[in-house]
Amino acid sequence: MGNAPLRQEEIGGTCGQIFVSSPRSWAVPTPAPTEVARFRNMRAELGQGPYAVHVTYLVNLAASSLEVRKRSLSALQAEMDAAAAYGAEYVVLHPGAATGAASREVGMQAIVSGIDALSIPRDTMLLLETMSGKGTTIGTTAEELGALIDAAAAAPGTLGVCLDTCHAYCAGYPLHTADGLSEMLDSFEDAVGLEAVRLVHCNDSKHPFLSGRDEHAHIGWGHIGADAFRRIVNEPRLRRRPFVLETPVEDGYGHAEDISFVRSLYDD
Ligand SMILES: [Zn+2]
Repeated sequence: MGNAPLRQEEIGGTCGQIFVSSPRSWAVPTPAPTEVARFRNMRAELGQGPYAVHVTYLVNLAASSLEVRKRSLSALQAEMDAAAAYGAEYVVLHPGAATGAASREVGMQAIVSGIDALSIPRDTMLLLETMSGKGTTIGTTAEELGALIDAAAAAPGTLGVCLDTCHAYCAGYPLHTADGLSEMLDSFEDAVGLEAVRLVHCNDSKHPFLSGRDEHAHIGWGHIGADAFRRIVNEPRLRRRPFVLETPVEDGYGHAEDISFVRSLYDD
């Protein structure tokens, strides 16, 4: 983990996202002080922008099982503490899915109780990620994310939103058109305030608009397309936000190639 800033530098990145545990494991190891020091020193030396810690995919604050909710909460707290140790500004959470017989409303209440039970470290913000709309997944609209943030007791400025372009598109925001992008940003402005949209997961989509699917494609290779990403990266309302790629890494085309393509889309 300590080498993450160096790896970013190698691929042309200037901010980043890390996992502090295996994405599909409950165990969240306490970061070793040597790793933390290496990370902080290297990042400072390279002058890199914000970092986010992405929470393990197993965490589900809306699970109907009390056991799963408890494990989720302690894993999430450990990830927040690890993020604070590394000096990462953001922790990105998939809000949850109302599993079992639980209704969406019950699931949303469970997420809010979970967030309220957390101790969010100073200088670290918890970002709820926009989801693609699979099944009982919560957080597929700006309004739903806004309702969660409004209902939580957390102090202003401790909760925000991570906008994933692939998820939002597959959930039904037509951000592949100029009007659709503008309307989506209006929705987020109304529901959470654009100040709360702190991070963009910049991903093209292997599946079409409104598909409810979640499979990321290289920028310009998917259904959202290069023209849309040219508008997205130049959109004044998204300016100065860190953009993080979660695109595939394949032989001969990985993050370095996606980053240089995205950079080529900027007007200035
Ligand atoms: Zn995610």
